[in-house]
Amino acid sequence: MSTWTNWSRSVRTTPVRTLQPASTADVVRILAEAARDGLPVKAHGAGHSFTAIAATDGVALHLGRMNALLDHDPVTGRVRVQAGISLRELNPQLAALGLALPNLGDVDPQSVAGAISTGTHGTGARLHGIAAAVVGLQLVTASGEVVEIDERHPWSGAAAVSLGALGVVTEVTLQCVPAFLLHAREEPMALPAVLESLPSLVEDNDHFEFYWFPHTEKALVKQNNRVPDGTAAAPLGRLRHLVDDELLSNGLFEIANRVGRRAPGIVPRINAVSGSALSAREYTAPSYEVFVSPRRVRFHESEFAVPRAALPEIISGLQRYFARGAETVSFPIEVRFTAADPVWLSTGYERDNCYVAVHAYHRNDPTSYFAYAQSLFVEHEGRPHWGKRHTLGPGYLSTVYPRFDQFRAIRDEVDPERRFGNDYLRQVLGD
Ligand SMILES: Cc1cc2nc3c(=O)[nH]c(=O)nc-3n(C[C@H](O)[C@H](O)[C@H](O)COP(=O)(O)OP(=O)(O)OC[C@H]3O[C@@H](n4cnc5c(N)ncnc54)[C@H](O)[C@@H]3O)c2cc1C
Repeated sequence: MSTWTNWSRSVRTTPVRTLQPASTADVVRILAEAARDGLPVKAHGAGHSFTAIAATDGVALHLGRMNALLDHDPVTGRVRVQAGISLRELNPQLAALGLALPNLGDVDPQSVAGAISTGTHGTGARLHGIAAAVVGLQLVTASGEVVEIDERHPWSGAAAVSLGALGVVTEVTLQCVPAFLLHAREEPMALPAVLESLPSLVEDNDHFEFYWFPHTEKALVKQNNRVPDGTAAAPLGRLRHLVDDELLSNGLFEIANRVGRRAPGIVPRINAVSGSALSAREYTAPSYEVFVSPRRVRFHESEFAVPRAALPEIISGLQRYFARGAETVSFPIEVRFTAADPVWLSTGYERDNCYVAVHAYHRNDPTSYFAYAQSLFVEHEGRPHWGKRHTLGPGYLSTVYPRFDQFRAIRDEVDPERRFGNDYLRQVLGD
């Protein structure tokens, strides 16, 4: 038996069996054996969820060997992949085909299945999370049936963001777009100025986000925009990349967090320095290189989607919390935007959103900070990211996800014995 931990080291389990299927047929066989032994099953991606959504003490499946790009259609731009392929493996293969995913989050180790199952998203007021690019998938259910779910299938609304509750996803068809370059512009800005020009920053950029440094009025603003076809790439110099992305954002940031943990009183000053240390920069590079940054300092995270109009009140609420001085927070707050989508359990379901993410250094206990932030988000019909920390259950979740009960009805049909159950699913979906 080997122990499994997630990326943030907050969840640790010891599955009875850890297996690495190489094919859909292997998954079918493994599910039959688990049913015979009465064991629960969980597929794992990269373990990049901050919640215990991927935890199991039964049979853990690592789909890392199921990482092939199986097929692509040059006319429609659709690609079929095995579900265990990571975004890091997929992106350059798409680029070689002249394709790209329309939008991505901050990092790329996640598997395609893991990313879509929790509703992983990036930023872009007219764009969606990764699951909205799913136009078909293959699911192995608890009974061992291999189900092809396309856009006309009755489960199509439920299958992409399924929290791992419906079965093991073995293949996914993704609607891609032609490969594109992004011009990245990153600069420090005062928080009041960001909030004042928010509507235009959100609407006038393809991908806009900002990081606000707690206890200060400093923010770092990122505006990424597509460039016209034929524009040459102008990537960051290697030295600048090393200084900004490795030294300041990771190496020195780790040291700052360790110091801040011993002496919390100086965290506001460290944040003020951090908010000024990253100077303005611009570069142009393939989309997937711009979206993704190295994240070597481990942290805990909670993130909620809220209606965009709620952002000023949420920022004020967080400012009040910091002003109370109950605790100091070293990690910036990340704010992103996406457009409404039709995926039932997507945080973006039929709502244009703003996402507010709070973080804490992995050695710090985030409980009281995250609980306060959650109370603010819930006041504004916040929908928690399924892979990030929250304490909500079906009573609340059914009020913010209009299709929640329909999703649960499909789960009852497809997994009546809860082969894919775990404590997290009992928390969010009920028994
Ligand atoms: C440093 C860091 C940065 C992040 N940045 C972002 C971001 O920018 N935007 C964002 O939205 N999220 C972000 N996340 C969260 C992350 O994208 C999600 O939690 C994602 O689900 C992790 O994917 P994974 O492959 O690690 O899946 P896991 O965490 O291993 O699993 C997640 C869920 O997917 C299920 N699953 C995995 N594979 C299968 C399968 N084959 N069939 C059925 N179910 C399956 C698991 O059972 C589990 O329920 C970040 C996380 C970290 C640690």
